[in-house]
Amino acid sequence: MQKFSSLPLSKALLENLDSLNYQQMTEIQAQSLPVMIDGRDVIAQAQTGSGKTAAFGLALLHHLNVKRFRVQTLVLCPTRELADQVANEIRRLARTIHNIKVLTLCGGMPFGPQIGSLAHGAHIVVGTPGRVEEHVRKGTLKLADIQTFVLDEADRMLDMGFQPTIDAIVDQLPAKRQNLLFSATYPAEIEQLSARVLSQPVMVKVESKHDQRSIEQHFYQLDSNDERLGAVVTLLMVHNPNSAIIFCNTRKEVDEIATELRSQGVDALGLHGDLDQPKRDSVIVRFANQSVTVLVATDVAARGIDIDDIELVVNYQIAHDPEVHVHRVGRTGRAGGSGVACSLFSKREAHKFADVQAYLNCDFEAERVPPRPAGVELKSAVMATLRIDGGKRDKVRPGDIVGALTKGGDIAGNDLGKIQVFPNCAYVAVRKRDANLALDKINRGKLKGRKFRAMRIRGE
Ligand code: AMP
Repeated sequence: MQKFSSLPLSKALLENLDSLNYQQMTEIQAQSLPVMIDGRDVIAQAQTGSGKTAAFGLALLHHLNVKRFRVQTLVLCPTRELADQVANEIRRLARTIHNIKVLTLCGGMPFGPQIGSLAHGAHIVVGTPGRVEEHVRKGTLKLADIQTFVLDEADRMLDMGFQPTIDAIVDQLPAKRQNLLFSATYPAEIEQLSARVLSQPVMVKVESKHDQRSIEQHFYQLDSNDERLGAVVTLLMVHNPNSAIIFCNTRKEVDEIATELRSQGVDALGLHGDLDQPKRDSVIVRFANQSVTVLVATDVAARGIDIDDIELVVNYQIAHDPEVHVHRVGRTGRAGGSGVACSLFSKREAHKFADVQAYLNCDFEAERVPPRPAGVELKSAVMATLRIDGGKRDKVRPGDIVGALTKGGDIAGNDLGKIQVFPNCAYVAVRKRDANLALDKINRGKLKGRKFRAMRIRGE
């Protein structure tokens, strides 16, 4: 393992890494940072959790000239959640560099404030392709000074149909620039994109960080497709998880399964690309804060969700691509925990089962779905989510919400869950038994000296 201090990074960056307690480089960092610091283009195949954000984050900060107040770095991400995470990680890494400005430009957000922020200037822009391209087209974002161009989760951006948009952005970039492409998988489309955008790239690849051994994998063979839904319910009963993701291939399946599970009393919600941004936020927020136990999702929609303690992954079908399978399964057993992954397949999909085994170089037994256990009551969510109609724009901070809810001592700070503040609203998770009391406190009391309305969000 290598230490960051072996790299020619500035003292300020190294000291900050120390204070963040980043001691050793992760594998992707050790492989990619020396070449990126050297100015080479890089294609890095690495997954979420590998430390990839800090890898390109440190490289772009190393090359940045803070005194020159121009947009020098552009990072494109597939989703707003990922763009926010990436921007936050870059800000953390840049804590010791004064006056550095990192701006996010994402779709689903109002345009006007973004134009205002751009007019004030920034060093680094992190955004989703559609919105970035719109700003470029309107002339509100100028790309003439870009030195580093990063494509994060490039495979996912192509899956989401962003290729023409990315091409339009690349057309406006200066010819002399460094290109860094990060992708979990490396299909032919990525190879073609790399050939168009990158110049003599160095390839680095790390195997999935998730230790496959910490994940218990089962493959269940079904006699007919009609058995799938019942099998999902049985597996939920067998494992009775606090938190589970069910991966499906289509949006229609997501809706069907989520509806069916809800009708059976499971705290389940569906997530797919047809949801508008506020709906999507509300689903992800509730799954992450444990107000919902089961998330039914397509691969594209689930990308960028960074949640550590998922106990069970169910593949409604085995993924078409074994790399996608590994990615799905790697959602559980993270951060040193153990996890269970169950994949359902019919005879017609036997080839996919064979592909996964060949890819993992591992023999798995094709099992039968276990019998449904009697008398099991599925765990319901422990938390409830309140939505407050005030957010960053009203200068509402998590501390204000904690203050309002714990005032009087009847709700303890420990009983509050995740708090997430968006531009126009905020979400707070409270124990279910405290939900009405908490609602009352917000609706009758004040935040920042002002009245705000709160409601409990339930159902879809
Ligand atoms: P990522 O793969 O970028 O999603 O990063 C996964 C997590 O690892 C993030 O929470 C980072 O803050 C953390 N991280 C990244 N690099 C290091 C490191 N060298 N040492 C410890 N933690 C790290």
